[in-house]
Amino acid sequence: MKILFISPCPKDEHRHKNLHIPQLSLPILAGLTPPEHEIEIVEEPWDKINFDKKYDLVGITTMTATAPRAYEISTMFRERGIKTILGGIHPTALPDESIKYTDSVVIGEAENIWDIVIKDLQKNDLRKFYKGEFPLLNNSVIPRRDLIKRRAGVIKLAPVETTRGCPYNCDFCSVTKFFGAHPRHKPIKEVIKDISTIKGKNLIFLDDNITGSKQYARELFKELKYMGKKWVGQSAINIVKDKELLKLASESGCCSFFVGIESVSVKGINRYHKNLKSKKEIKEAMKMFLDVGILVYASLIFGFDNDDQSIFEETVEFLIESRVASVQLVLLTPYPGTKIFDNLQKEGRILSYDWSKYDNVKLVFEPIGMTADQLLGGFHWARCKFDSFPSIIKRFWANKRHPILYTSVNLGSRYHTHNKKNAYKR
Ligand code: SF4
Repeated sequence: MKILFISPCPKDEHRHKNLHIPQLSLPILAGLTPPEHEIEIVEEPWDKINFDKKYDLVGITTMTATAPRAYEISTMFRERGIKTILGGIHPTALPDESIKYTDSVVIGEAENIWDIVIKDLQKNDLRKFYKGEFPLLNNSVIPRRDLIKRRAGVIKLAPVETTRGCPYNCDFCSVTKFFGAHPRHKPIKEVIKDISTIKGKNLIFLDDNITGSKQYARELFKELKYMGKKWVGQSAINIVKDKELLKLASESGCCSFFVGIESVSVKGINRYHKNLKSKKEIKEAMKMFLDVGILVYASLIFGFDNDDQSIFEETVEFLIESRVASVQLVLLTPYPGTKIFDNLQKEGRILSYDWSKYDNVKLVFEPIGMTADQLLGGFHWARCKFDSFPSIIKRFWANKRHPILYTSVNLGSRYHTHNKKNAYKR
């Protein structure tokens, strides 16, 4: 059979393609598919879909923001008589919506049910829903990296996965609901075997918190130390409480950690930082990353109910003073399946159910600490201020251990922020 896997992208996609990270879920799905079947992967940020080509199945993975495009693609293939199947975070949260646009929906992870899907497809007897339980990852498949296309671009990062699941269940995040609360690890020897097949030097660990299990992280970093790779990943800020592990991460090739700070307001810190109690402690934590040569890519959210107009200046001042290398500033986005979505819906504060607007930079709910215009204006101001040349220069010296990474990420972010096409809107 001929199978096409697609990672869709909205038509007006404006993200910086050079910073786009390839998906790993589709190469994993390809690895799960018996080898006699022919597989193609299309990543829409770069590739064009050939709707005239004949396939036996088109599988589409989608998040909330890409769901309308996924539905459009699915409909176009079905009009040509080709069966489609949808999976990913959005169809898992809203399977009854997704099934209107496809033959079949995979709810949850596909590992334990994909062979059944393939057999049913061969019998021309696809079910409407396939529900995957949380699979153990101790016998996981090696992703089909041969299907990941090499792209011309500034930053090439090969995606790697070690762990799924997160115990924190933050109210704005769907990871715990999708992957479960108990972290599941791949055996380290399998992760290392997978990494050893990667030709490039630079990796990105897609795990939501690579240091969630300290023992696992320690063993992984010890192995990585001798592989000569450079890598970036996500970590909870409390890794700084374990100085030896932080140093080991650096020695193993870690250049940068993506760290969720979420908010620098007093209520935000109390809510999301159980281990760090104040801005001063978070600032000290930022310094500890820099002391071992690890750049911090911080993530913060605007629009929590306790935010007022002072949050923008307070946040930017904190980020520049802490010499954060780069930042992902986003608007609170109530993804279906999260507690925040349920609460805002109950309160009648969801302004739009156009999922394409759920991209972290458009406002889709009614804020209460300020008006919508004040929130959008402050958000845009904060992005521009952080990406200004005085800010980039001021933060450079503390981050000079990785000058190419620092400069390319900051100039890329500045280009994106100042691009008129990307004006923030409702
Ligand atoms: S935001 Fe991070 S820590 Fe919180 S639930 Fe999501 S993945 Fe876990």
